[in-house]
Amino acid sequence: MFSLPESTDIFILNGEHSVPLVLLSIAIACCAAYTALSMNQRMQQTSFFHKNFWLLLSSIAMGLGIWSMHFIGMSAFMLPIAMNYDVFLTIISAIPAVFASYLAFYFANRRYTTHWSYFIAGIIMGLGISSMHYIGMAAMKMDAEYVYKPWIFLASIVIAVVASYIALYTFSTLQKYMRNQLVKITTSILLGLTITSMHYTGMAAIVFYVRRPLIDNLNGMHHMDTTLLITVVTVGISFLLLIAGLTSLLDRYVDHRLHHFDALTLLPNQRQFEKELNHIVTTGTLAIIHIHNLEKWISGYGYTYGDKMIQAVRDIIQSKKPEYAKVYRIEGNRFAIFQFGESGYETMKKSMKDVLTVLENPLEVDNKQIVLEVVCSLSHSKEKKVVRGLFSNSMAVLQHPSIAYKHEVIEYDPAVHTYTFERQIVQDISKAIANRELFMEYQPKVCSKTYEVSGVEALLRWKHPVYGMISPGVFIPILENNGQIVDVTDWVIEEACRQAALWLKEGVPFRHVSINIPGVYVTSSRLLNVIIHNLLKYKVDSHYIELEITETSVIHDIENAINAVEQFRELGLSVALDDFGTGLSSLSYLKRMPVSTIKIDKSFVDGVPLSEKDSDVLKSIIILCYSLNLSVVIEGVESKEQMDFITSMTEKPFVQGYYFSRPLPVKEIVTWIGRETPTKLQGV
Ligand code: C2E
Ligand code: CA
Ligand code: CA
Repeated sequence: MFSLPESTDIFILNGEHSVPLVLLSIAIACCAAYTALSMNQRMQQTSFFHKNFWLLLSSIAMGLGIWSMHFIGMSAFMLPIAMNYDVFLTIISAIPAVFASYLAFYFANRRYTTHWSYFIAGIIMGLGISSMHYIGMAAMKMDAEYVYKPWIFLASIVIAVVASYIALYTFSTLQKYMRNQLVKITTSILLGLTITSMHYTGMAAIVFYVRRPLIDNLNGMHHMDTTLLITVVTVGISFLLLIAGLTSLLDRYVDHRLHHFDALTLLPNQRQFEKELNHIVTTGTLAIIHIHNLEKWISGYGYTYGDKMIQAVRDIIQSKKPEYAKVYRIEGNRFAIFQFGESGYETMKKSMKDVLTVLENPLEVDNKQIVLEVVCSLSHSKEKKVVRGLFSNSMAVLQHPSIAYKHEVIEYDPAVHTYTFERQIVQDISKAIANRELFMEYQPKVCSKTYEVSGVEALLRWKHPVYGMISPGVFIPILENNGQIVDVTDWVIEEACRQAALWLKEGVPFRHVSINIPGVYVTSSRLLNVIIHNLLKYKVDSHYIELEITETSVIHDIENAINAVEQFRELGLSVALDDFGTGLSSLSYLKRMPVSTIKIDKSFVDGVPLSEKDSDVLKSIIILCYSLNLSVVIEGVESKEQMDFITSMTEKPFVQGYYFSRPLPVKEIVTWIGRETPTKLQGV
């Protein structure tokens, strides 16, 4: 195998390579590496499919990539003798490549990796590539014989192992940046070159020769006849890419369905309702159908029966609703029906009456007759308003003490209902703290260039026993108007400090927690005392806390606000100016306000990049902030297009938005940070 026969009877054959095919083989290896890395990336994200599915798919992509690279490389090779290959061995040779890729990706993707993990992964991958190559060589059929030059043979294996080690190490360390196309492409090229360098070193190790009598058979250069092989490779790779593409699409679709649709009724859920309607300003009619005694039937007949009841109600609503109205299942026992436009009110009212008339009579579900106690609240806006307002109105109707579940359609009356809802919120807030109905969610702020997590914003949540989840956008203004926001903010500050202390103890790498401070509280001396008290109580250094204050709230009392912010900064806290651009910003106060960060409001990002004007405005604000030496956080970034626009800007602003993550409960944010944050944190 390693030495030429000592006979004068042999003739050495010189091989040649076709340059275009060599380049093609390199390109194939890099493309396969890119596909494999993309699938590895999906493994890191929440997915409908199990992690192992993506691991398997990426190993198959990588393995087949190595395999096709080899055979394209072989078809680039020419000898002055006809060559063919053994189909069975050729197929077998793909196995070590796929298997080694699986093990290597498994090791490189482990949460806690050491140099040893990469070393083992490098050896496995290197040996896998080499075995594939040499089994592939053994599959060659021709009249010539061959031997290997031992040192180059050995070198090819060492190259495969060392280069695999470097490629896997780079891949794993740069894992967090894989969303950055440039990093992903560079890593793919590195992996691709690893495979090709092994192959061509292996080819340099081989010496082909023929015995003298065969010399007459030599007539010009021959390529290996790989038409069949190339067809199989092309079809195989296209098929794999198709599967990867389809699964990725399916994954996104399933993720969307799971999060935004109700599994039982297949209707859009509360999240979708909020996404579509909460923030838009429009005219329209909103009806909420509330089923009162669902629990009673469920406790009598079980959950499966309850499901059937819900489906029966859905069918009735669907059949009676106005043609263009959309139905949502916003809670277990509540459906919302929304219709755009000023003129739909009467039609909606009639439709809802029809629904309730049907439900007034016994409903037959599974051969049992049941009567549901149902009520419908109706609210309408003739002028353009945010739909969230309509929602609060409808909820206020459902909460009125006079409510009876007697199949009535009750129209919202501001004189009767608003006060009740607000009063209820004001009454319930103190109980909410004691009953642990309040809790925090955290949303990360991420650097748009390096994807490092710079901090998390603490956002308050209230799971009200009757209203369900109430948006802070609804209850915070009510608490502000009724003087209760101060107590709630104190609770938030304590909660944020407690959480920060816990994370510090657990070694969770966060840079700071941001707390929203309502306008009325910013200039109060109590605030400073509460903060100092909690920092001391939980032994948290002040630089772990950031305060977010809105510009609208400080504008009325600008001198005192500047003093207050100065004191916070002296204490070592960061201060961010929130919702920047929504108030009547004055550049003169911005210059004097000693904040560290500006948070640009979502409304500036919504039109980007389609609207050139919005894009220019956003760019100008960022430049302005940098010229004042302020860090920038752009809020409400949702789409890839917006991200690409932001990344294309010269500087590196931080981004907070659904594109990276929604606000998450404590446990999930810890996992999120653990996955996304590189060891070195960068500050805002
Ligand atoms: P904010 O301070 O401007 O907080 C950011 C809001 O934008 C959060 O809404 C967040 O969920 C939402 N958001 C973040 N990224 C995106 C995105 O990409 N798209 C969209 N559509 N929204 C995004 P949330 O949690 O509903 O809070 C609303 C407001 O309620 C906050 O606006 C803040 O003014 C107030 N708030 C929340 N928590 C507290 C708190 O603890 N104290 C006080 N005083 N106010 C709070
Ligand atoms: Ca904020
Ligand atoms: Ca904001």
